[in-house]
Amino acid sequence: MTSAYRAARILTMNPGCPEIVDGCILVDGGRIVAVVPWKDASGPCRDLGDVTLVPGLINAHAHLELSHMSGMLPAGRGFEVWADGLFAALRDQRVCRGDVERAVAAARNSGTCFVADVVGREAAMVRSVLEAEGMGGHLFRELSGRRGLPDFSAADRPGPWSPSVHALYSTAPALAREAKGWCVSRGLPFSLHLAEVPGENELFLGRGGEFAEFLRARRILPKGFAPPGMSAVAYASELGLLDGRTLAVHCVHVDEADIGILVRSGAGICLCPRSNERIGVGEASAAALHATGATLCLGTDSLASNDDLDLWAELRAVRALLPTDIPLWDLLAMVTIHPAKVLGLAGEYGSLEAGKRAVWAVLPPDFTEHP
Ligand SMILES: [Zn+2]
Repeated sequence: MTSAYRAARILTMNPGCPEIVDGCILVDGGRIVAVVPWKDASGPCRDLGDVTLVPGLINAHAHLELSHMSGMLPAGRGFEVWADGLFAALRDQRVCRGDVERAVAAARNSGTCFVADVVGREAAMVRSVLEAEGMGGHLFRELSGRRGLPDFSAADRPGPWSPSVHALYSTAPALAREAKGWCVSRGLPFSLHLAEVPGENELFLGRGGEFAEFLRARRILPKGFAPPGMSAVAYASELGLLDGRTLAVHCVHVDEADIGILVRSGAGICLCPRSNERIGVGEASAAALHATGATLCLGTDSLASNDDLDLWAELRAVRALLPTDIPLWDLLAMVTIHPAKVLGLAGEYGSLEAGKRAVWAVLPPDFTEHP
């Protein structure tokens, strides 16, 4: 049976009809049948009132299994201090299901319908919470070091997932290539943290530095590491890791040449501005990336480096780094159509149009061009 929902304004993120004033969404079996002006609809309908509907939001980068670390780690003192705090917390404490449940429920209440989540040992629990809370999710099983790909068995990992690598300073290049190849051969998305830390480029260029010393002292650099003599982004490209199905997360320390590489590759560039600020790694080049037409996505990162998993707060943070006249479409694209495309979800999520899942976020009447 078809249900109808009326709202004062619908921002569809469908380029064919981006905005409908006094619109109506017809739904059958959890799928959208049509999005039409109210005057063209007929039959009984639920009037949602003076609100704006947008597609359910997609968080392109989180680590739900760090949800117990809210407010626990040192802030604003740089990556090395933060990471040492993280290692200690990982040693001493384990996340509870309740922490993940609360994080997912709060994300859902703020309009998020799908999370691309990086997981380690808690993959099964995270999946189970996502399912119980009715949240869509793609799990990136994170690899580091130099051991080959684990023997992934589909049976013990229900739901969509694929391998990802932590970062090129912690993962052997052969393993990174193998993981990306695995994803490519199965048509699955891939993810890595890239150019997040000041000092990453110096390390890869063979200039040493504080970050290189930090990694050596903690035995994080993969055995046999040899600087490739190029920037982090150029190295990722050289290894064949960047294409339209890769989420390159952070991309804070990029120059013009790096931005060119990222844009030409078509990779989704996932900015996490509040995490960058909290840890103290610098400001993402959001304006330069946007100006060159990069496929920008947005992630909250984890509660170990953010106050919450609210994508509206993340949008406000990224907006502060972008030109004031940025179109609303471009902002919403970062949390809807762009991540949907990179994650391979374009047939399901990202816009309000016929055939897609009937999931939307409801915005209050005072919502303007400034989310
Ligand atoms: Zn992360």
